[in-house]
Amino acid sequence: MGLMPNNTGIGEVPVTSIFGVHVSKLNMSQTVDVLEAAVASKKPHQVITANPIMIMAALESEENMRAMSEAELIVPDGAGVVWAAEQFGDPVAERVAGFDLMHELMKRGEQLGWTAYLLGAAEEVVQEAASRLQKQYPKVRIVGVRNGYFGAPENAEVIESIRRAEPDLLFVARDAKTQEPWIARHKHELGASVIMGVGGSFDVISGKTKRAPVAMQKMRLEWFYRLAKEPSRLPRMMVLPQFMRKVKKAKKSGK
Ligand code: UDP
Repeated sequence: MGLMPNNTGIGEVPVTSIFGVHVSKLNMSQTVDVLEAAVASKKPHQVITANPIMIMAALESEENMRAMSEAELIVPDGAGVVWAAEQFGDPVAERVAGFDLMHELMKRGEQLGWTAYLLGAAEEVVQEAASRLQKQYPKVRIVGVRNGYFGAPENAEVIESIRRAEPDLLFVARDAKTQEPWIARHKHELGASVIMGVGGSFDVISGKTKRAPVAMQKMRLEWFYRLAKEPSRLPRMMVLPQFMRKVKKAKKSGK
């Protein structure tokens, strides 16, 4: 166990190390408290919701590892991450799924009058997600909505739009390959306090796709549900058994 020292206004966070990636050991409610401090600090905080695919990607690419090591908070989103921490004998408090954390932050924002910006997914998806979130959390002011299909030419304009809106919370729903590096590269220009990649969450909120049933989530089988719904995810899921083998091997050799 270690403490992730943090000079950005959220204090020290207890972490467990999974192949050098420092994953928070806070439970959901402590995580929200820490992120409330992050909002109060008005400094940028990148929250990464780690799963085995991302940890493997970090081990393979320097840019991904840098994004991980420079993130202010990494939460255990994937069941595989929770499992790995158990295997290494330094477990996390509980799974902190990005989708649930996003809702918990909206709930806290409802009490404290925060603002939020939604960036990502297709235009009709992000519009619908914004309108549903606005209904569910009427006291959180949604200060900006932008689809996630843009490239280098539009980058400056997207950043400027977020910076002008000065959101407390910025949720970025893009594919895993662009989301984290983009946030890491631009977090100091965005003027947002909590910046979190939420992957396919806007698709779920808008009603376009569904999350796994709670029973399956509890059995740690959410990944299987997503795979069954979207077989095109198979190639990238193949890193899961690799990850598990790597954990077992590291455990045997004493890490
Ligand atoms: N997405 C986006 N811009 C892109 C690619 C994807 O906004 O250039 C959105 C996509 O519409 C979806 C979300 O990112 O809402 C997650 O996409 P996907 O499930 O393909 O990514 P994963 O999280 O599985 O990597």
